[in-house]
Amino acid sequence: MIHLIPSHQGRPADDPIFSLHHEAAQRRARGEHVIDATIGVLLGDDGALAVLPAAARAVREVPAVEWATYAPIAGTSDFLRAVIDDLLAGEPEMKRMAVAVATPGGTGAIRHAITNFLEPGEALLTTNWFWGPYRTLCDEADRGFETFEMFDGSGKLDVESLDAAIARQLASQKRVLVVLNDPAHNPTGYSMSDDEWIAVADRLASRAATCPITLLVDCAYFLYGARDPRAFLRRLRPLLGSVTLLFAWSASKSFTHYGLRVGALVACAGDAERAMVEAALCYSCRGTWSNCNRGGLAAITRMLADPELARACTVDRENAKALLLARVDAFNARAARRGLRYPRYEGGFFVTVFVDAPHERAATMRSQGVYVLPQLPAAADTPAGASAPARVKGGALRIALCAVASGDVERLVDVLAEGLTLPT
Ligand code: PLP
Repeated sequence: MIHLIPSHQGRPADDPIFSLHHEAAQRRARGEHVIDATIGVLLGDDGALAVLPAAARAVREVPAVEWATYAPIAGTSDFLRAVIDDLLAGEPEMKRMAVAVATPGGTGAIRHAITNFLEPGEALLTTNWFWGPYRTLCDEADRGFETFEMFDGSGKLDVESLDAAIARQLASQKRVLVVLNDPAHNPTGYSMSDDEWIAVADRLASRAATCPITLLVDCAYFLYGARDPRAFLRRLRPLLGSVTLLFAWSASKSFTHYGLRVGALVACAGDAERAMVEAALCYSCRGTWSNCNRGGLAAITRMLADPELARACTVDRENAKALLLARVDAFNARAARRGLRYPRYEGGFFVTVFVDAPHERAATMRSQGVYVLPQLPAAADTPAGASAPARVKGGALRIALCAVASGDVERLVDVLAEGLTLPT
């Protein structure tokens, strides 16, 4: 007799990214020169984790008693203020409307958004290329998962497809939670243009009169894009008061402390419901992880609010970003020559190259010592509550350029390009 509930039987324990990364690491340990472009952490050209020195210093300076003490359920007020000030600098009205809770990374923030802005059985809506854990988080929370076509024929954000999907959801579930990961989208590397943000805001505004629409911006990589990371906020101003704006803020990449598990959900809600939203988010904290790591909150608060430390972190991050952007440039230059097909890529941890039969191609590449993540997009009409992704033709290989040494970028592209000539 199996005691595990049927809906949880057959769930995979292994994350494919971590399995591939583990295999690559084992080969490396045996002395092979392996290029591992699977894992989404920034590595230096020496293969070591690129840690912002100022951030590491701030973590070391947190007193023992801070690590030992419980944090308040919602997170320390200094931390919440610092995050809101950091994210919404230059947006006074958003700041006035903002409430926040601390979460274990951006993942926790996305979890709270799903459970507080969708009823059980209702589906989240995101791009058909997406970070896999979005679906896992929905599964875990008994919420459905639906997607819209991310790119139109000219490689731009398919705003028509988004709008049609919103219309479908408004008809079927009378509520919409749209999740956009921007800038430097994982997995495609795409950063929306100003015009695309304007078009998205316009569609959301015109659909928000009758049913609740919530927009969650997952800004996990926002400090690694090529342009002003906060520029998109001004395009969301017209939505204030009619669309609830949520932001999944994460210290993982911004401060290169992935394991510290510090993040926040920031919500800009209308006057009538702000206190209710804040209370519901606090309740969710209590009902899941109870509270976050107080030492981590203290360290990140200093990195945000202590002017000298904040400046030092910015300088260190700019160095890390320059390393990443040099890899992006090298990739773009070589990939253009080798005819790879991929979305506009200006910066960020990942890029996605479109191929057919991605699993076969990734396997061939592994035999040549290059590890990338094969991906298939979700079908645009994935039904709510589906536990397995419906598939469409065509796939992709996600390349975590953040983890590839600059000197390996050309070989990576060459092996990718050779793969493209294989019979499928
Ligand atoms: N969103 C995206 C798209 C990500 O790729 C990640 C991490 O890889 C996260 C959110 C959340 O990361 P964390 O929970 O470490 O903040």
